[in-house]
This record gives sequence, C-alpha cells and structure tokens, in this order.
Amino acid sequence: MDHFLYRDGALYAEDVPVSEIAAAVGTPFYVYSTATLKRHFQLFDDALAWGDHLVCFAMKSLSNQAVIKLLGNAGAGMDVVSGGEYLRAKAAGVPGDRIVFSGVGKTADEMRLAIEGGIRQFNVESEPEMIVLDQVAQSLGAVAPITIRVNPDVDAKTHAKIATGKSENKFGIPISRAREVYAMAAKMPGLKVIGIDVHIGSQLTELAPFEAAYNKVAELTEQLRADGHEITRLDLGGGLGIPYARSNEAPPLPTDYGALIQRTVGHLGCEIEIEPGRLISGNAGLMVSKVIYVKSGEDREFLILDGAMNDLIRPAMYDAWHDIIPVNEAPAGTSPARYDIVGPVCESGDTFAKGREMPPVKADDLVAFRSAGAYGAVMSSEYNSRPLIPEVLVDGDQFAVIRPRPTYEDMIARDNVPAWLE
Ligand SMILES: *Cc1c(COP(=O)(O)O)cnc(C)c1O
Repeated sequence: MDHFLYRDGALYAEDVPVSEIAAAVGTPFYVYSTATLKRHFQLFDDALAWGDHLVCFAMKSLSNQAVIKLLGNAGAGMDVVSGGEYLRAKAAGVPGDRIVFSGVGKTADEMRLAIEGGIRQFNVESEPEMIVLDQVAQSLGAVAPITIRVNPDVDAKTHAKIATGKSENKFGIPISRAREVYAMAAKMPGLKVIGIDVHIGSQLTELAPFEAAYNKVAELTEQLRADGHEITRLDLGGGLGIPYARSNEAPPLPTDYGALIQRTVGHLGCEIEIEPGRLISGNAGLMVSKVIYVKSGEDREFLILDGAMNDLIRPAMYDAWHDIIPVNEAPAGTSPARYDIVGPVCESGDTFAKGREMPPVKADDLVAFRSAGAYGAVMSSEYNSRPLIPEVLVDGDQFAVIRPRPTYEDMIARDNVPAWLE
C-alpha cells in the first residue's frame, strides 16, 4: 500500500496534487511520501515485536538527509555501506549505536571514521578486512564490535545483479569456513565478536530462500556457541521484495517475514537486526516526468520523456519494470495506447518500457513512474550533462524540496580548468 492515489482523476501524493509539485519544481523530479515511509518501517518494527530487535534502514536504497532524519526519528537504525553513508546518518542525528557498517570493501579510513564517531557493529566480510579492522581499532585504543557475514550458498531466485548469497558472489565468507574464521577473530584484541550476519540478495519475492539461509544461521549459532563464542546478535540482512507491477502477485508481507524469523531463529534468544531498504523506500516514491514528444516510428509510437536513464537507471540496468501512469487519469472507457517509452539520452538502452500499454497521452502531459523510491535518485548521474533531478518530500498537505535541482551553472562550475589551459 502507498499514498499515491487518484482523486477526481488527478494523481495525488498524500494530500498534494502531483501536478502542483510539477508546477513548483519543474520536471522531472522524485517525490516521496512520509506516510508510506513511516508505515513500511512500522510494519517491520511490529513484525519483530516478539523480541529484542532493531530495524536498520538500508540507506543505499534512498539516502536523502530528510528521509534518514524522518526514519531515524521513527526509531530506525541505519545500515551503511560507505564512509559517506555513515556521515550522512550521523549528520541526520542518528546515534552511532544505531548504525551498522556493511560492505565488502571498507577502507581503514572508513573504519577509523566509524570507530571514532561510534558504531553499533561492523559486519566483517573477509579475513583481510578483519585483520585491518583489528589494527585500526587497536591503534585507536578501541575494541570494535563485529559480526561476520557468512555466505550461506543459497539461491535467492532474484535478478543476477542483486543476488549475493551464492558461493560465486563476492560477499561474506563461505559458511563452511565460518568456525575457523570465528576462531581467528576471537584471538584479535581489537575485535569483539558479538554475532552473525547474512544477506542473500535483493527483491526476493519468496520466503523460501530466507528460510534456508536463516536455518543455516541457526545451526551455525549453536556450533559457534559450542566453540565458546558469545553469539548475542543476528543480523539477518534485507532483501524482501516489493510488487513493481500492480497486476503481479504481491510478495510476502513483513508480518510473514517476521514470523519466519521467529520460527527459524527465535529460540536462540538473540537480538535480531534486519536491514530492509527497498520495502521501506521503493513504493514510497514516484519519479514524475513530462512527455516531450510523441513520435511515430515505422511500426510503433515512441513516448519521449524528459526523464531518462541517468535519472532512473533500473530499467536499463536490471530490466526492471515500473508501472508508468498518467498524472491526469484518462476518462473512463478510453482505449489504451501502446508505446515504447524512452528518454532523450543518446543510447538505445535509454528505454523505460517497450510496447507498453497505457492510457493515451500527448506532449506536455505528466506521467509518473511508480515504485521509484528505492535505487532511483541514489543511482542517478549527470550523464549527457543533465543536472541531477530534484527530490521532494510530502507530508500530508505540505511538501518541501529536499534536494534542489542544480542549475547548469552549478553543474559546470564543479569542474576546474587548469591554469595551463587558460
Ligand atoms: C542492499 C543491501 C540491503 C538492502 O537490500 P533491500 O533489497 O533494499 O532490502 C541490506 N543489507 C545489505 C548488506 C545490502 O547490501
């Protein structure tokens, strides 16, 4: 469920007409719903209410300061994957003891930053990383709390580019070697082992892969305890999928996911951490764009939008489907048109949809890409020298620009021409 609905034929973001935002900020832009963000966080928080837990928002899915602030205020922790994300979380007022540091290539500088600023735990992904973290912590006179990310060799049954839990993926240490690596960690004075971490992929639409992975984590917990390790926290990752097309069957709900966690690892008495990104932010955002031209090709019609692959790369990168709907609803009974929906960027990959059936639209009409909150703005670029598009946050009947569109001058002024070229 989200808060982008039609009222009398006009699309609203909560209580604000989307066309009003377009008139104020220009197109294209992203718009996020406060109510949806909070609701999705709350669903996870409620689903784990049976035990001690922390829901850490995977900031890489949507990392605007305003969004971090509102989720942080709601009680969320943050899952960060870089020094930049760590500093964003801190800048939004999230305390260090609610920030988890994930990622396969943390640098010594990033580790130092997080130890000095305060950190809940590092999710360590390899032995070389463990050695560096031990040294960095010791050099600061600190002891870094860690979990070790294990790779359970489970098929997440998702797009290959976002599957992370198979043995051929770069993530974590093979679960078969976990006991050996935990034994090594236990001897390091700069580290304190507190738990286990697992994350098998993104946009999972079934619970079975989670179940397989969490069963393996439960078994490992018991083995590690028998080996003398204190395992008090389980970080079970993110990855629960969302419905991208309204026509599709809905993926499992956070409630069912929470019940699965209780069933698989609940008996171990560990504090539970999860790291959902997409399910919190995905359906909390739209990308709104304007039709520049409707162009007739030989055997098809092209809808040429002012939004492009640099603004929303998911269709080009993951063959992702986004529902694309008119901001002003067509009158009932209008027969649908069929378009190839593209952006102005000079690449054939700049295609959002092929042969898409939708209500007919014309030049200057607005369209909205649904489910664009996650992995949208954060993955955008200025390819083709198209300035980053603005982000807008709606809360009830108010809205604010939470990242303005840079001017062309801003964009050009970021580059320096060396003196010898002047
Ligand atoms: C990407 C990622 C997540 C979030 O995944 P979603 O599919 O957005 O829920 C969580 N944890 C880690 C380690 C990740 O890399």
